[in-house]
Amino acid sequence: MEKPIVEIDGDEMARVMWHLVREELIEPYVELKVEYYDLHIKVRDETEDRITLDAVEALKRVGVGVKCATITPNVERVKEYNLKREWRSPNATIRELLDGTIFRAPIIVSNIQPAVRFWKKPIVIARHAVGDIYSGAGVRVEGPGEVHIIFKGVDGRSIDVKVGTLGGAGIIQAYHVAEKSIYSFARSVFRYALMSNLNVWFAAKDTISKVYDARFKEIFQEVYEREFKEEFSGRGLTYEYYLIDDAYSRAIRSEGGFVWAAKNYDGDVLSDLMASAFSGSLAMMTSELLSPDGVYMAEAAHGTVQRHYYRYLRGEKTSTNPTAIILAWSKGLRRRGELDKNEDLILYAKNLEEAVKKTIEVDRVVTQDIAKISEPPINAVVTTEEFIETVKKNLEHMLSHRILV
Ligand code: NAP
Ligand code: MG
Repeated sequence: MEKPIVEIDGDEMARVMWHLVREELIEPYVELKVEYYDLHIKVRDETEDRITLDAVEALKRVGVGVKCATITPNVERVKEYNLKREWRSPNATIRELLDGTIFRAPIIVSNIQPAVRFWKKPIVIARHAVGDIYSGAGVRVEGPGEVHIIFKGVDGRSIDVKVGTLGGAGIIQAYHVAEKSIYSFARSVFRYALMSNLNVWFAAKDTISKVYDARFKEIFQEVYEREFKEEFSGRGLTYEYYLIDDAYSRAIRSEGGFVWAAKNYDGDVLSDLMASAFSGSLAMMTSELLSPDGVYMAEAAHGTVQRHYYRYLRGEKTSTNPTAIILAWSKGLRRRGELDKNEDLILYAKNLEEAVKKTIEVDRVVTQDIAKISEPPINAVVTTEEFIETVKKNLEHMLSHRILV
């Protein structure tokens, strides 16, 4: 490697696996160059969370990063780790400062059947994790009256729109989003699709939401046509807008292979649905962040796996699945390789992914979460360390026989 990637370390069992993966599967094969940021909860506490901001600065500068899961403190965590306060979720800080979109992609292996039997390729959910009801306001009124939306412009002008009339007690909700953030969202989605060679769907309900959803639709169309259409056509990729109900039924009948961009609430629901429908294990899903100007960060979709960590601390062997962590590394390294046109690094990343697949699909050596849902039945339920050892064996075999070139 000539240029570095940003490595963001984290907490608990995810951290334990992170280091195992790095030592066993990466360092022996890659001349690794990293800018290391330790976001362990105690370091965030000691630095008043400065370390998270430093990591974001590094991501902006370097352009590629990999991240381990981190604790988002709540009251219990403040006690457990004796923290000064409930620090913000690092993921929220990173996403916000990079204006990025999160893409949740299932890791597909042949012996875990998706709930929908037609699905052969991933459906990646891109959630616009900004605005709408998540920053809206609601009110309950006790008697009849008129409901209005009032906008007060800083230029002094104001707009007053009547929403409707309430004949008695009722509930009211209002929300908003900035157009700038919709543009960023659209750009991240199209960029990601090009990177991953996937078609794009955007789905909303513009027939009913004639201003709000319609504006999303317009912006997606505008960004697509102005900035991406040519490259999409050249690559044989497509962009389609669907009404969201239509999209749901089409998705079920499809074979997958697309990025599904969704507004904040739809994306929230969809990403959990897809996580379960594709694999039934959080450890078989990655989460990638892409900013509109191309900053990329890969991580596992799961958290720090706290329950397993307590067992690990008691000295027990755990069967925690490191697949998504391995894939986060491979995707980060692959991205670095693609940006630098470093064919060796790209090849190594592909081999690493194949080695994981072979371990699960061919050797049928899996951790307990997969054992429960695998068809046909697996050969061996192993510990985290044993799983990594098997991946390593497969990787060495592939690299020494130059199986993937
Ligand atoms: P979690 O760490 O994702 O784990 C929830 C459960 O899912 C585990 O107890 C385990 O089930 C299963 N699981 C998750 N990953 C697994 C793996 N790799 N292998 C096998 N099983 C796995 O979620 P959580 O326990 O709700 O959260 C723990 C901490 O993670 C929290 O402090 C939270 O703030 C943080 N978190 C961080 C991120 C992030 O940094 N991106 C994301 C989510 C949560 P069983 O116990 O049944 O085996
Ligand atoms: Mg959700």
